[in-house]
Amino acid sequence: MRVTVDRVGVEVADGATVLDATRAAGAVVPTLCYDERLTPQGSCRVCLVGVRGRAVPACTTPAADGMEIATDEAAAREAAQLALELLVSQLPARALDIPAEHSELVRACQHFGLTASRFDGATRNAGVDHSHPYVKLDRDLCIACNRCVRICAEVQGTFALSLAGRGFDTVVVAGVGGPWVSSPCVACGGCVDTCPSGALTEPGLSDPRPFSRTTTTTCGYCGVGCTLRVHVRDGAVAAITPAREGPVNRGHACVKGRFAHAFARSRDRLTTPLVRDGGRDSPLRPASWQEALTVAATRLAAIRDRHGPDAIGMISSARATNEENYLAQKFARVVLGTNNIDNCSRLCHAPSAVGLTAAFGHAGSTNSVDDLDHTDCILIAGANPTEAHPVIGARIKQLVLRGARLIVIDPRRIDLAEMADVHIQAEPGSNVAVFNGIARILIDEGHTDEEFLRTRASGLAELIAVLADYPPNQAARLAGVAPEALVAAARLYGTARRPAIVYGLGVTEHAHGTDGVRTLSNLAILKGAVGTPGCCGVLSMRGQNNVQGASDMGALPDLLPGYQRVTDPDVRARFNQAWRAEVPVRPGLRILDMFASAIAGRVRAMYVIGEDIAQTDPDSNNVRRALAACDLVINHDLFLSSTAEHADVVFPAVPFLDKEGTFVNFDRRVQRVRPALDPPGQARSDFDILHLLARAMGADLGCSTPAEAMAECAALTPTFAGISHARLDVEGPLHWPCRGIDEPGEGRLYLDSFATPDGRAALAARPYLPPGEQPSNSFPYILITGRRLSHYNSGSMSRRTPNQQLHPHEILDMHPDDAARLGLTNGDLVEVTSRRATVTYPVRLTKTVSPGQIFTTFGFPDTPTNALTSDAADTETGCPEYKITAVSLNPVITGSESLAVVLGPSTSKPGPS
Ligand code: SF4
Repeated sequence: MRVTVDRVGVEVADGATVLDATRAAGAVVPTLCYDERLTPQGSCRVCLVGVRGRAVPACTTPAADGMEIATDEAAAREAAQLALELLVSQLPARALDIPAEHSELVRACQHFGLTASRFDGATRNAGVDHSHPYVKLDRDLCIACNRCVRICAEVQGTFALSLAGRGFDTVVVAGVGGPWVSSPCVACGGCVDTCPSGALTEPGLSDPRPFSRTTTTTCGYCGVGCTLRVHVRDGAVAAITPAREGPVNRGHACVKGRFAHAFARSRDRLTTPLVRDGGRDSPLRPASWQEALTVAATRLAAIRDRHGPDAIGMISSARATNEENYLAQKFARVVLGTNNIDNCSRLCHAPSAVGLTAAFGHAGSTNSVDDLDHTDCILIAGANPTEAHPVIGARIKQLVLRGARLIVIDPRRIDLAEMADVHIQAEPGSNVAVFNGIARILIDEGHTDEEFLRTRASGLAELIAVLADYPPNQAARLAGVAPEALVAAARLYGTARRPAIVYGLGVTEHAHGTDGVRTLSNLAILKGAVGTPGCCGVLSMRGQNNVQGASDMGALPDLLPGYQRVTDPDVRARFNQAWRAEVPVRPGLRILDMFASAIAGRVRAMYVIGEDIAQTDPDSNNVRRALAACDLVINHDLFLSSTAEHADVVFPAVPFLDKEGTFVNFDRRVQRVRPALDPPGQARSDFDILHLLARAMGADLGCSTPAEAMAECAALTPTFAGISHARLDVEGPLHWPCRGIDEPGEGRLYLDSFATPDGRAALAARPYLPPGEQPSNSFPYILITGRRLSHYNSGSMSRRTPNQQLHPHEILDMHPDDAARLGLTNGDLVEVTSRRATVTYPVRLTKTVSPGQIFTTFGFPDTPTNALTSDAADTETGCPEYKITAVSLNPVITGSESLAVVLGPSTSKPGPS
């Protein structure tokens, strides 16, 4: 439709508001209660404009064809100015001293030429809440615009904020009104971001000094891949803000990506290489780069030449960039001459790579996260997005608030279960039974897409034969749930127009994790909800920032970049020619096999890049035995980690904030990473370290810059052929597969054909098999491990930030019934003993876990949870069964001791064998 703004014609879309029209025309209309991300409220009246002689709020008034809008209409302008003056009259003078770039209120005053209010008003003296490390509330500056309350509800979905008081005394409160830090606020920063008056601020943005540099990059915490702006002042990160144009986060972020950056300038960052002169009992000492490289190169070469290339195992990093992972696998194959290269996706999403490839053809999510916008039903299995992938958790909450139905399959009553239409609180390890039960109901009740199954899928007859054993009663019995829950879930998913599946480590980290991925994928295939127009498919929530990319780049023992098989002679020939080397024929060792081989004396050296395997890998005492058995351990890291303590040579590395390259997020989006900081001391990127070590071993890896490494990868990898740094810098993120420089990349896959050998989606007939480790009389409880909002993985970064104040040490979640049986109350200490070790934790009573199950994380070295976990692993991929450990519980302190009990440096001790 066409309207005029100040007598100039402008076209606007149907549904546009008067404010949209004024902005389309380039007119300046100040606003205070308006945020384009939120439902307009129209309460502040600062955006009044004239329409046919009447003053109307621009933000809530619909534009109409032929409408004549006057932003300079005198009556409207006077009324808006009066509304603003009355607001200002209630505020202390410092409200107008805030720099204009940090205050919409100040900008509105400048628009009207106001420097003070003509009116005397009562001002509050309600004080400042400094209790939270990241969010500061100056109550006296609150103008009760409700934006923070709305963003917390509408964007974050947390509903932690409200306006309390009446009239003049109205002010925002968090939770029930106590200290902000004690409220349910999840510190996403949305309230700070939207506050127009400076009442809500964060430390980095309230400093009026200008930034020296702002860099747009991709978050280095989780696999969501939020686009962030890193603002630098005095050589350190002053603040991070989410980028509105970020294709995944759309201006949102979480407490880690937005605030947890202090680790980058932590005093215990490694700034020089370290070497050990004698055995492992001798201390690590600082060394020059030349000395450390010579020691590492000489000893690596000696082991390779004496024991053969396969006596070396290399573990690359999901924290590192694609280009670094590309170089790491090239180093293993070209310089060392072994395929013994793996990365930590082995420990989390290897079943996704194998399962999704077998079902559909590619080792990644079938769809873009953008497709979630159109879903009417989300099935979440084994994922807790509000803690592990908070921006996606918030997106899912928004969708549910807008009417999407929600099915949660999880042994814990996670946050999203509170909003769910159906929560299947299945026993840990029973996923396959649950998915088979739902599949059976979909078929029995006719919720399948017959045409799709006939023309685009294979394996239906075999699946139906297996599902004969999974009528609802039987599947529910295996899962320990009511059959009605399975029926309700199947009907919701089966009758939805565009159902989506979102899953995580609760599906993969099991002894039959690949079966879990396959049987979950069956549901999308049966429904025809994958590879079809408008479908939402199957999204696998990758854990760490670049766990998808590390595998995409071929840091895998059997696969070269782009999942090309090392056993394929044609593939090897192409790489051999490009690399002027011989790619070894025999697939290498997986991570857990490397440890077993080290203990057996076959692997003599481990080269570990950016992973703290002694803390994060299962049965960590066994990992330490493996490291101790090696003649040589080389490690790159930011800090002296548990693994670095076992190393002979430690190279000081840099985090995502200091480096150049790309990451791939959970929906296969290749995104740029750009350096915001200079590395401290002599620290260098993994990319540089690999080049230096190769040179010290007399080899040249070529591709001297990350851009060249991506170009080389693209030339050898059909699915990355169209991707380059130059293109990403111009066009923004691109999904792989992207097979040519003119192709846009495929967000929604398989619209024409699946990438399987026969072009059809492959249904999998997999029976339920029991977990690798089961409770017994001696070990009657099941320990589930997972993530918490404030910390990430080993916690090496987040623990060195004020996030530590939000979650200072690890705790063990326990159902009150179990606690009562054991005589425990909140904060009491309990020894958790598995077949491998004992670790002591303070307990937290919560009904989010079921009786007989306990939950914790492995983010704190002083509660080494992985000393407890087993080396039982997925039979197809070697992914550990982190989600099930049989344990016993033994109270060590009861009564009045509290969570403040200080835990010793290591409370792990050997357990019964
Ligand atoms: Fe986004 Fe994940 Fe980073 Fe949070 S940790 S800002 S959700 S990428």
